[in-house]
Amino acid sequence: MSTLIEDFENKSESEMDIENENSIEKFEHMGLKKTVLRGIFAYGYEEPSQIQKKAIPVFLSGKDIIAQAQSGTGKTATFSISILQLIDESIKGVQAIILSPTRELSEQIYTVIRGLAFYTKIRFALILGGQSRFEQINEIRDGAQCVICTPGRLNDFLQNSCVDVSKVKHIVIDEADELLTNAFIHQVKNIVEIVPNQAQICLFSATLPKFCYNISEKFLVDPIKICVKKEQLTLEGIKQYYIITHDDKQKYDAITDLYESMIINQLIIYCNTKQRVMYLADNLTRDGHTCTCIHSDLTTNERMNVMSKFRKGDSRVLISTDLLSRGIDVQQVSLVINYDIPRNIESYIHRIGRSGRFGRKGIALNFILELDRETMRRLEQFYCTQIEELPANVDTIFNQI
Ligand code: ADP
Ligand code: MG
Repeated sequence: MSTLIEDFENKSESEMDIENENSIEKFEHMGLKKTVLRGIFAYGYEEPSQIQKKAIPVFLSGKDIIAQAQSGTGKTATFSISILQLIDESIKGVQAIILSPTRELSEQIYTVIRGLAFYTKIRFALILGGQSRFEQINEIRDGAQCVICTPGRLNDFLQNSCVDVSKVKHIVIDEADELLTNAFIHQVKNIVEIVPNQAQICLFSATLPKFCYNISEKFLVDPIKICVKKEQLTLEGIKQYYIITHDDKQKYDAITDLYESMIINQLIIYCNTKQRVMYLADNLTRDGHTCTCIHSDLTTNERMNVMSKFRKGDSRVLISTDLLSRGIDVQQVSLVINYDIPRNIESYIHRIGRSGRFGRKGIALNFILELDRETMRRLEQFYCTQIEELPANVDTIFNQI
């Protein structure tokens, strides 16, 4: 972890060659097709966010991109709108690939991009492990022009020649720092190597430590870097607090107290391991507190059910591992609890970024053991932010969100 912090800090802005000029202030001035523009407005977006103002014009110019902007600022629509604009509807076959690290995130991207594409005739395919290959292959053969996928299943299809990628012009790598780590890098590399050389490659994430720049330089050509300063990374609308707890029992008591005192819409509780997620969920259920949980040991169907209940608001408390720390957008989530403080510095910002989406207010609450104080101090320093002790008048604080 420390090397990541150092790497990030050692990279000066000039080295990063940041594109901060040339933003376009209105969707109407971006030269978008009528169908795409109508889709954006019908979806409820009126004005582009900062990252959209800056990155859509660059994306449309065809250049490779490394884009970093804080959570909840609309990166999904940035690449979705660009891709909808760039796909040639008259040509059948896969022209764009959007990669993300989890099935939940791919499903979310699929929903967003199809929503924005409502007035176009663009065809999509969602390619995920754990689901029927047959249907997915059919979707592709039926002329899907944009494929949204996790890298594993796509690689599998590529190896078995189930997908023709000879017409691919654009690849988006969402949560790029995650997809460039050991767990995924080989699969991502395979995909990048197999598509035509001149395909445009665009990386997006809220966190892009230096190792990403190094790796990405190997397969991006003169990328334009669009960045936000690190101090702007912690989201303005999210207040961060901590509670000192002496042991696990106190953590548990604090959670059950919160259950009793809170009128929170929806919240996510993060634990560091799936065993801890299950243990907490079992205990809460046993004590009559409703909650659902998600982690990688659940089956595909179970994961889909949990997410769909949570998105609909049928369940209000979701307990999760870092499986769901990235990207997931449920606007009603106003509170994130780190039942365990994350072990990885990037996870912190991804986890707390599940609240306070698109400028809404949110609260992050960290349960800290004595031995976590140092980690917390490092987080504060790294993100140039303050985590305050939760005051006694919790009600007034929670009433603000
Ligand atoms: P990120 O990937 O940057 O963390 P998302 O793409 O998930 O963020 O977007 C966060 C939220 O902001 C979503 O609910 C999305 O619908 C909303 N959003 C994105 N762009 C706009 C816009 N231009 N106007 C209004 N809401 C937007
Ligand atoms: Mg995102």
